[in-house]
Amino acid sequence: MDGLEIKAYAKVNLALDVVRRMENGYHQVRMIMQTVGICDVLTLEKQADGITVHTDSGELPTDENNLIYKAALIMRKQYGIREGISVCLRKNIPIAAGMAGGSTDAAATFLGMNRLFGIHAGEEELRRLAVGVGADVPYCIMGGTALAEGIGEKLTPLAAMPDCFLLVAKPEILVSTRYVYENLHADTLASHPDIDGMIRAIGNRDIRQMAGYLSNVLETVTAVRYPVIEQIKVHMRAHGACNALMSGSGPT
Ligand code: ATP
Repeated sequence: MDGLEIKAYAKVNLALDVVRRMENGYHQVRMIMQTVGICDVLTLEKQADGITVHTDSGELPTDENNLIYKAALIMRKQYGIREGISVCLRKNIPIAAGMAGGSTDAAATFLGMNRLFGIHAGEEELRRLAVGVGADVPYCIMGGTALAEGIGEKLTPLAAMPDCFLLVAKPEILVSTRYVYENLHADTLASHPDIDGMIRAIGNRDIRQMAGYLSNVLETVTAVRYPVIEQIKVHMRAHGACNALMSGSGPT
């Protein structure tokens, strides 16, 4: 096999809590992650040497700053792959939007190279490598409905949530995940999402009950800075949505 195509699915957060800021500057989180149907498409092809990234998005780096490049570098080093790899990215997931667009591309690169080069590494092994690219990449390798703890890398699969329609709105603003976490005051939050309540609601396969538990502490930073987020949520609820929530660090 010289090439393959792989889909990289986006995620939303059904609930997101920041437990505390750790001494190393990372944040300890508890989040419920859910894969959604929106996806990027990656075409991986072997080449003689080196790592090349192409993309139809004019807004992304194609050098070592692209998370695809970082994942490919780790795979080559870890498994002693001598051949090169070219990755062509068709970008559909909004960028810097809280939908793990970069992380899922990296995850697809780990999974795709594992197949393309016949490495046969297990999912757990790939997840351990993937955390070197970013805290959400292990989850993107696993996919589905999951509880993510630690910095996001400790994963517990949950029962799949019932099928439903999800309306995704992305205002024309870019939000830096770093800015949001740096401006979050985790110790002084008035309330925290009921993550265990959400897990029970998912277990009950009850969409309306789940809707009642939608909550994201990062809204205290992003939605305060960008009022359009609250406006969109109000609009969605007024037009029949069970509920509405910002995903990740926003603004989606
Ligand atoms: P998360 O939900 O994990 O916080 P996000 O959706 O907010 O992620 P991304 O779309 O992953 O954010 O992009 C964050 C930054 O990562 C962007 O500034 C972008 O330049 C960089 N980046 C590097 N590689 C990629 C990639 N393949 N796709 C998207 N962004 C990438």
